[in-house]
Amino acid sequence: MSRIAIIGAGLSGLACARALRDEGREVTLFDKGRAAGGRLATRRAEAGRRRLQWDHGAQYLTARGADFAALLAECGAAPWGEPGRFVGVPGMSSLPRTLATGLDLRAGRHVVALEGGPGAWMLRHLDAALVRPGQPLPAAEPHSDGPFDSVAITLPPAQAASLIARPAPGLRQRLESVAIAPCWAVLAAFAERPDWPETLRPEAGPIGWLARDSSKPGRDTAAECWVIQAGPDWSLAHLEDPAETIAPRLLAALPPAPPPLLLKAHRWRYSLVRAPLGEPCLWLPAARIGLAGDWCLAGRAEAAFDSGRALAAALLA
Ligand SMILES: Cc1cc2nc3c(=O)[nH]c(=O)nc-3n(C[C@H](O)[C@H](O)[C@H](O)COP(=O)(O)OP(=O)(O)OC[C@H]3O[C@@H](n4cnc5c(N)ncnc54)[C@H](O)[C@@H]3O)c2cc1C
Repeated sequence: MSRIAIIGAGLSGLACARALRDEGREVTLFDKGRAAGGRLATRRAEAGRRRLQWDHGAQYLTARGADFAALLAECGAAPWGEPGRFVGVPGMSSLPRTLATGLDLRAGRHVVALEGGPGAWMLRHLDAALVRPGQPLPAAEPHSDGPFDSVAITLPPAQAASLIARPAPGLRQRLESVAIAPCWAVLAAFAERPDWPETLRPEAGPIGWLARDSSKPGRDTAAECWVIQAGPDWSLAHLEDPAETIAPRLLAALPPAPPPLLLKAHRWRYSLVRAPLGEPCLWLPAARIGLAGDWCLAGRAEAAFDSGRALAAALLA
């Protein structure tokens, strides 16, 4: 039976994997993260014996299609805020954790190259703990896995580009046409509730979105946990600024808050898609390589789900 490798275990990779598994295919997922989920993520911490958590990536999910709505129900997502908004319980990461159940996931593996050819692709990957973002790859000898009949790459296009440079050089221009905005996200915890609205999406200024994460269902309410996201233009202008300078500047743009128990800034180099590819996925039948991700369709989690399933359908055809 043919083996299929999926690089990336975000929502698109998981959706692709499940659709292939449901058709009896043998699938192996590789992800550099410690668990599945990618941008559907929950960060946990502790301060003064209080357990803290924030959904620091996707804030809430909406379903336009019946299949994604069914998936949200299957994963126990609960309504939050305005009608039609859903979140994972007790955190956004519970969704990908549920989806990954029973799948062969190799976590903590940073894939650095595709070698071989159609029908016999080999994946070369490093222990992700050795790879520093923005630094050259370490000299360590990568591990090899394979052979795989086909490979699905479900990474943001800039990250996919180096993997397809040799096997599919013709795709470079297509990938370069896609634009994804970065996002600085500040995770803040307070003992007392700041005098802020439950959610806020200002029209102007550095802040793009503010949310009281601890108001989501199933969260520990021992502390006030808030997510403050910078808008795309501010995030881009300050992308390389030191992380410790971000939170004070975003807090200064809000009404005064009590002293924080904890403040952390997280840099997402790829957050919401600004210019998508405009096709559900890319599939190269001769090479038996495909690409999927939210960036194919739109900047929402449901687009990642649709794209991953479209790639599975192309692979099966
Ligand atoms: C700050 C922020 C806010 C958002 N808000 C919302 C929202 O409110 N609603 C909504 O619907 N969507 C939102 N989104 C978008 C949503 O999170 C994405 O559309 C969706 O999660 C994308 O899934 P994906 O599988 O396409 O990509 P990703 O989730 O990015 O998955 C890619 C995976 O590839 C892995 N990877 C990358 N390189 C390698 C490598 N070389 N080797 C191995 N693994 C690798 C990564 O670890 C990651 O797990 C938000 C995103 C961000 C960042």
